[in-house]
Amino acid sequence: MHVDDLTTPALLVDAAALEANLADMAALLPGPRLRPHVKAHKTTGLARRQAAHGHTGFTCATVREVEGMAAAGLGADLLLANEVLDARRLGAVVGSGARVTVAIDSEQTLRAAVDGGVREVLIDVNIGLPRCGIAPARAGALADAARAAGLVVRGVMGYEGHLQMLDDAAERARLTTECTDRLLAAHADVGGEVVSGGGTGTHAMNTACTEIQAGSYALMDTAYTAAGLPFRQALTVLSTVVSTTAPDGDMPGWAVADAGLKAFGMDHGNPTVPGGNVWFCSDEHLVFAADAPPRTGDRVRVVPAHVDPTVALHERMHLVDGDEVLETWAVDLRGW
Ligand code: PLP
Ligand code: MN
Repeated sequence: MHVDDLTTPALLVDAAALEANLADMAALLPGPRLRPHVKAHKTTGLARRQAAHGHTGFTCATVREVEGMAAAGLGADLLLANEVLDARRLGAVVGSGARVTVAIDSEQTLRAAVDGGVREVLIDVNIGLPRCGIAPARAGALADAARAAGLVVRGVMGYEGHLQMLDDAAERARLTTECTDRLLAAHADVGGEVVSGGGTGTHAMNTACTEIQAGSYALMDTAYTAAGLPFRQALTVLSTVVSTTAPDGDMPGWAVADAGLKAFGMDHGNPTVPGGNVWFCSDEHLVFAADAPPRTGDRVRVVPAHVDPTVALHERMHLVDGDEVLETWAVDLRGW
């Protein structure tokens, strides 16, 4: 199939860029040193490529992602790196033969794991991002309580999410070490073989964790590129120019493409049109000016600013080599 045959907006994945990203990361963090986060792509077809690069354990953000990965035969070692209060569906996944570990940071999440039939947990430790995670000093007591309740405590996790996009890489490295020192202090009290954390922005500098939970590296976005990450931009949104307005006096010309707020995660800013200047997005419109003014009917490959929420808006992604569609993958881990 040719990309011109796709209905727009459509997610495109440049096959060569994706492959380079997966290979580069696997060279730096081989096998179990990387536990790819599937929330970034929500696609078992892509996770299968990551498994082919040697990573057989995966990180998930939702129960739905755990279920989908297990159903796709990718359930050898799934970490739900998030708190859940109702773990019954996770227990069903365990019952199907997959290995599921869930993060806990409270008596309530501990109880949910037990009641839901999950057997293995990590103690989620707050290492500086004001989100989930127990205070480092209390991690050991929670681990003791989990063991007393019959759970296997595999170790700790802690996510330095507030550091991922710091422009200054040296500062990012220094602060990452501060965070992982907190995680290692908690680990000394908790025990277990797993110290899990990190992301695309800290994958090369977080050397304390036994495994890194990076996700965005596979597809990338303009925010991570701006922070200097060495991966290639694999993801674009193919869209069609549906209207153009010529310059008139002082008013420059502009073009309107058919991909707007409902096609892009916007929390990291506007998407980017190569060779163009994006003015704004509305629900189904992307308004931009370009040095070489596009014509109505032209197609543009727009680069998202934030990969995860962009992918979650689309039902499928198309793996492409130039204008040729090689494969189409369902974004099958969407929803809850
Ligand atoms: N681990 C957790 C718990 C996360 O929430 C995230 C992203 O938000 C990541 C790791 C890393 O993801 P990424 O590599 O996309 O920055
Ligand atoms: Mn993200």
